[in-house]
Amino acid sequence: MTQTAPPVVGFIGLGNMGSGMTRNLLAAGFPLVVNDIRPEAATELIGRGARWADTPAQTAAESDVVITMLPTPRHVDEVVNGPSGILAGIRDGGTWIDMSTSVPDVADTVRRAHASRGLHILDAPVSGMSVGAANGMLQIFVGGEASDVERLRPVFEAMGDPERILHVGGPGAGYAVKLMINQLWFSHLVATAEVLAIGVKAGVELDVLRDSLIASPANSNFVQNDVLSVLDHGDYDEGFAIALACKDLGLSIDLARSVGVPAELSALVEQVYRRAKAQYGDRAGEMTPVKLYEDLIGVDLRRQAVLA
Ligand code: NAD
Repeated sequence: MTQTAPPVVGFIGLGNMGSGMTRNLLAAGFPLVVNDIRPEAATELIGRGARWADTPAQTAAESDVVITMLPTPRHVDEVVNGPSGILAGIRDGGTWIDMSTSVPDVADTVRRAHASRGLHILDAPVSGMSVGAANGMLQIFVGGEASDVERLRPVFEAMGDPERILHVGGPGAGYAVKLMINQLWFSHLVATAEVLAIGVKAGVELDVLRDSLIASPANSNFVQNDVLSVLDHGDYDEGFAIALACKDLGLSIDLARSVGVPAELSALVEQVYRRAKAQYGDRAGEMTPVKLYEDLIGVDLRRQAVLA
């Protein structure tokens, strides 16, 4: 029985997320070609067997599937349409997967302008933080043709939890789902921080307050699990910079505007995030809005059960 060789994967954007995702692609046996504007980000990968490409065009030319994992739609546009961009190197019929948290505009423009080239374009943004990227357990929300999603499943499975690689619809659906996930998670964060700050200031012990919330209809995954990063470890998750969180919130509100749905609450959450970014800097963690409330009441929200 002949075994087909795994596709060569090109990967552009070796940051907090891309570094873990590429390590897992290599570990799963995919030949890897990598590029980043920071060549030093590739040193360790090259040591493990990845090949360096000088430009996105070269990355695309030397691979069967090219993946982008970049900060914002502007970066995606630059990497795809720039003079040495993906479109200058990708072969006709080639595959580009954008795993950035972004919007469909760049991909849609490429589809329209290069319709005759038979490109396969998918959006596949992820959840699961840099930890999920490092341990290959990302949730992946894929927008695109079903046949492409099936063909590329082994590539996705190298980076994500097989149970949570979801084909969520046609082109653009992955971007939309991901933005809504983040919008809701950031809203949970702000609402939870506000409630904990008020309750603690009112004299209730933090552990008692949180246990009561968990025992009530107001329980949430955020109260039960995610907030513990701050409450137990004082960790505001610098693996996801607040500047990127603000970018996501902005894109989410743009999406709401473009489909004509008012987004009052989302806009308020965005403002709280922007305040935290202004106060603590672009590189502060995505959970830093909790710190805004801590500073307001003059108390760090930390579980006594853990401090004891
Ligand atoms: P990051 O800033 O850590 O990494 C981005 C990488 O892209 C950097 O290495 C940067 O040098 C590179 N880059 C920028 N411009 C480039 C260009 N023109 N050519 C080549 N490389 C370029 O960002 P990240 O945290 O890895 O996030 C990447 C994407 O994933 C973002 O869209 C983010 O919203 C999303 N995301 C992040 C997390 C997280 O927890 N960090 C979780 C889910 C989704």
